[in-house]
Amino acid sequence: MPTLTEKKSARPTSRAQGRPLPELIFGDLWEYDPSPETADPKLKARYELFIGGKFVPPSSGKYFDSINPANESKLAEIAWANVTDVDAAYVAAQKAYDTVWRKMPGRERAKYIYRIARLLQDRAREFAVAETLDGGKPIKESRDFDVPMAAAHFFYHAGWADKLDYVAPGRKVAPLGVVGQVIPWNFPLLMLAWKLAPALAMGNCIVIKPAETTSITALKLAEILQDAGLPAGVVNIVPGFGDTGAAVMGHATAAKVAFTGSTEVGKIIMRSLAGTDKKMTMELGGKAANIVFDDAPIDQAVEGVINGIFFNQGHVCCAGSRLLVHEPIAKTFLAKLKTRMRVLRVGDPLDKNTDIGAINSKEQLGTIERLVGVGIKEGAEMFQHPCKLPSKGYYFRPTIFSNVSMSHRIAREEIFGPVLSVITFRTVDEAIEKANNTAYGLSAGVWTDKGSRILKMSTELKAGVVWANTYNKFDPTSPFGGYKESGFGREGGRQGLLDYCKLV
Ligand code: ADP
Repeated sequence: MPTLTEKKSARPTSRAQGRPLPELIFGDLWEYDPSPETADPKLKARYELFIGGKFVPPSSGKYFDSINPANESKLAEIAWANVTDVDAAYVAAQKAYDTVWRKMPGRERAKYIYRIARLLQDRAREFAVAETLDGGKPIKESRDFDVPMAAAHFFYHAGWADKLDYVAPGRKVAPLGVVGQVIPWNFPLLMLAWKLAPALAMGNCIVIKPAETTSITALKLAEILQDAGLPAGVVNIVPGFGDTGAAVMGHATAAKVAFTGSTEVGKIIMRSLAGTDKKMTMELGGKAANIVFDDAPIDQAVEGVINGIFFNQGHVCCAGSRLLVHEPIAKTFLAKLKTRMRVLRVGDPLDKNTDIGAINSKEQLGTIERLVGVGIKEGAEMFQHPCKLPSKGYYFRPTIFSNVSMSHRIAREEIFGPVLSVITFRTVDEAIEKANNTAYGLSAGVWTDKGSRILKMSTELKAGVVWANTYNKFDPTSPFGGYKESGFGREGGRQGLLDYCKLV
């Protein structure tokens, strides 16, 4: 898609702004005036723990800072829950389970979940800004994807709460009790909704820990839970670091634990819980292949590949971080990809025109830089977006590596940043072999004109989700989860509900 660029030189001035009018050059980026989102995120200076329906200070008196990764400024102080606080949260959850929630008919539970969804919709703009400030993702993503999708998860599961007899046809289902949940920083509010909504619909009570860099929208949602009149203790939110997460996962009261995060931490949790009778679901890392055949709709595929890896700065476990491209079109496809990438806008996440915002944290930026350094050392050919990055904040240029071989670390390890590795293939079998040649198996994409090929690929790819002629599409009705080191269990749909109940 050709675009126009602005070269500043002596030329007539725009009447509106008194600036020289741009000279338009084919193939580069047109400069827009800044267009920041201005809705008030209504942030508090300090966020407490949410236990037993109330905001309470942490027993240790410790707080940590939540930083805006776009400019490194402090947004708020967050209470740090320790083992005592986590214990109090489980006591509150068990009490709510025994006295209120499990006895409540599903149709009544549905009303609360529905109310949460509506209240979230009412405050959508405010939540979107808060999410962007805290996590660094572009406002157009938090506004158009994260917040509406989070609300959709509550709506969808509200619909299930009075129809639980249909979750496992021919069987009755019952809640598990209190569940412990730990979530990551890439979709803070959406992951919260993915975890809370099915557990609530099924009649469980919850202790949940948001990620340390992105706790704000979870604690804002606690305000909504209060406004919705959700009975005290049904949901308890305990922010903190890995120590808090370990306390949530390891607590004796938890009948089930659900974790989304790195494979490394997932393995630590699984090891620590081995031998217990806790139910578990794990949604872990990924190294998805986006596979483009020579009969694919090329421009659509370029758009899909760009979306697959650069969406949310590549902070997506199902990101299409490997492009497998059919050799006959490899050169053309790569050229089109670079042209498209050059016109992505990188910068202020609050700006409505920004495509790629800030990397979530300094640590994550360090990880991306390290792995990109490895890619260069291993001899892959690097192409980076030519943009100037903001002087403050954590940013990384969208990057494409070509001439990548399957043995390169950038083809095997999860980078979790805006970095694409391009690998070629000649036959269908080679594409399948290369796509499956990874420890992960969360997702994949197939781009081809042939329906039969899509069916063959989706059968043979060892991935929980296979998108065909699209990528990164989500829906609450559709189960999501992995194969191999990408974890087990499903979130969303009827299958997701099965992971929050026992069959009786
Ligand atoms: P990422 O690499 O995406 O940051 P992590 O797996 O490190 O993912 O973190 C995901 C979530 O797991 C975060 O909420 C984090 O605080 C939590 N966490 C980190 N270490 C542990 C642990 N040992 N036990 C439980 N939770 C943990």
